[in-house]
Amino acid sequence: MAADKTTILLVEDEPAIIALVTFSLREAGWDPVAVSTCSDAWEFLQGRMPQLILLDWMLPDQSGLRFLARIKADRQFNNLPVIMLTAKSMEEDKIAGLNTGADDYVTKPFSPRELTARIRALLRRKSPEHAQETMSVANVTLDPVSCSVKIDSDRIDIGHAEFKLLKFFLAHPDKVFSRGQLLDKVWGDHVVIEERTVDVHVLRLRKALKEAGNLIKTVRSVGYMLSEK
Ligand code: CA
Repeated sequence: MAADKTTILLVEDEPAIIALVTFSLREAGWDPVAVSTCSDAWEFLQGRMPQLILLDWMLPDQSGLRFLARIKADRQFNNLPVIMLTAKSMEEDKIAGLNTGADDYVTKPFSPRELTARIRALLRRKSPEHAQETMSVANVTLDPVSCSVKIDSDRIDIGHAEFKLLKFFLAHPDKVFSRGQLLDKVWGDHVVIEERTVDVHVLRLRKALKEAGNLIKTVRSVGYMLSEK
């Protein structure tokens, strides 16, 4: 389901780059959405929150740098990770981008591998559950690209919600999350479900993990955590 994938907003006006980046990101397991102007990007942001923005420097209606300043000035968006795509290799331009709040920049021409590596590194830092990397704990391995979970080398049956929950726990081991936090982080803040639903999914997750189910700990009167200890 597209809504559960990690959305990366590409703001770029060169068709060849749009095609290349879109293809590479999709291959890497992300869900790219391309727009070619700052005003289209702003409109997109009103309806849907991406997990990362790739922002070209030279755009038809406004400079990428100005758009970046606009995002950073907005409380709703100022935590969004942004990578600037720039044809400019001038040191002062890079500094301007970083000073305005860009997390990283990639200078054109770039290889798709370099770009995906930068995206992955940034997501690993900011929201590891979106880095689309294979994660494991004990004998449990989750592959976000093929949406599969293995115990040792056996693929297990796991529901969609339990998969997302496990993915989140694996990205944040040894951290306790309240039911409210899990609802917010795993189901998204537009979803209205009861906190008790979290308990149901934790129960199902433990069952799906069989003996490894004890990796998911109940922390009394707080919530849940994944831990090997
Ligand atoms: Ca451009």
